[in-house]
Amino acid sequence: MNLALLLERSARAFPRQPAVALGARVLHDYAVLAGRVARLAGGLREGLGLLPGQRVALVMKNCPQYVELLFACWQAGLCAVPVNAKLHPRELAFIFRDTAAGACFVTADLAEGVAAAQAESPALASVIDVDGADYDALLRHAPLAPADVATDDLAWLFYTSGTTGKPKGVMLSHANLLAAALAYFADVDTIAPGESILHAAPMSHGSGLYILPHVIQAACNVVPESGGFDEAEIFDLLRAHRGVTLFAAPTMVKRLVAFAERARPECTNLKTIVYGGGPMYVEDCKAAMRVFGCKLAQIYGQGESPMTITAMDKALHADTAHPRYEQRLASVGRPFAGIEVRVADIDDNPLPAGEIGEVLVRGPTVMAGYLNNPEATLQTLRNGWLHTGDVGFLDEEGFLTLRDRSKDLIISGGSNIYPREVEEVLLRHPAVAEASVVGAPDAEWGEIVLAFVAARPGMQVGADELDALCLGHIARFKRPKRYVFLDALPKNATGKVLKTELRKRL
Ligand code: AMP
Repeated sequence: MNLALLLERSARAFPRQPAVALGARVLHDYAVLAGRVARLAGGLREGLGLLPGQRVALVMKNCPQYVELLFACWQAGLCAVPVNAKLHPRELAFIFRDTAAGACFVTADLAEGVAAAQAESPALASVIDVDGADYDALLRHAPLAPADVATDDLAWLFYTSGTTGKPKGVMLSHANLLAAALAYFADVDTIAPGESILHAAPMSHGSGLYILPHVIQAACNVVPESGGFDEAEIFDLLRAHRGVTLFAAPTMVKRLVAFAERARPECTNLKTIVYGGGPMYVEDCKAAMRVFGCKLAQIYGQGESPMTITAMDKALHADTAHPRYEQRLASVGRPFAGIEVRVADIDDNPLPAGEIGEVLVRGPTVMAGYLNNPEATLQTLRNGWLHTGDVGFLDEEGFLTLRDRSKDLIISGGSNIYPREVEEVLLRHPAVAEASVVGAPDAEWGEIVLAFVAARPGMQVGADELDALCLGHIARFKRPKRYVFLDALPKNATGKVLKTELRKRL
């Protein structure tokens, strides 16, 4: 089924519900959005001469046009390539060539980088500024009905964030994205017409994927005017929209908490913060619930099974009386209904509860493979399972707890040390804002534990205090042997701490 039919369906039943807003202002209701999408789809096919199956790159900061362009691509039978707005022109050129994108839509702030990349991308015939006259001209084309697509036709090429090596283009089909959207209702949250999602996290990534479940329920896609993540703006927008959901990386949740503790903003209209994309520490999760109440839900996913491996909904977060509550909070929740999750040994055999192994995934959300990369596809999808590269264990109740990615594991004097466990302890210190633990090469031990720590603004913390804290909570051999204090930890565009960067500093 073509995903564009989901928009048509909402436009029929809820034509007057707000569909897209910029800041506090509603731009289009569902009827208007569906009309624009149909004409834009006509523009893509007739105006730009794109053929079914061709790829269309979206190199844009968060903007209202993101929503209509995604649906217009689908309606026209084209595949969207939402690109991380922070990439270098050289990385853009790689993606343009890898996808053979025939057109690229840009926001003005990114036009220069795209122009540089276009010079090296022979297939890229058209670059269109979404605020320019050429874009308006596309909207004047005759409307096009949703194309007939096969369910395994590509809808979205998702480039992995590449914290290691070259990015890979994850091939996501219409069926993959439909399964991921429906999974939201089973295990993350409910949505009702008139509610909204605030796209403060990149729409090229998780927040963009959440457009679909919100369109299915005729909720409004709110794009902040800044096009990015600004705490004050987010809380301001909570006054203008109701039933607001926000997808945020854990680092963003931390910033929201810090802001709310300072400014005590009104949060009645905040419905749900879905966090994921990186580890959330228990202390940070508790702090967020203290400030916002039980409005937190977690997802664990990766581009290869977008936003959909495991989830922990608001009710599970709220179940403080449960005897294993702390362990649950430290977990990433339960497998989504309809998605098989296995913790396996190196031969892909399932391991019993409590044993640590690689997380494997099988189900309708799992990608078809990596574009133009059969070796990586074979390796990652071997034996019919997605090999996530994540390491963890399932408990008796079916909750998955992630350890670190295998490459982050520290082996010191023959003992395995999981950085996350040490980081959780360091974060208990009231003056520690961020902590990241890596292994540093060492002649005697193979590796030693090294902690990068950033203190909260205006506060100070020393190695001695942190050492004492660790001695009180974890085995002696796990505690950092060295500390490096930084103002902030380096992060990628989606807010993930870049351990590769930290290691380079050693
Ligand atoms: P990406 O494909 O860029 O979205 O990155 C996916 C990776 O982020 C996963 O393989 C995990 O290592 C990590 N990740 C995603 N969600 C979570 C979560 N809830 N907790 C811990 N790590 C996560």
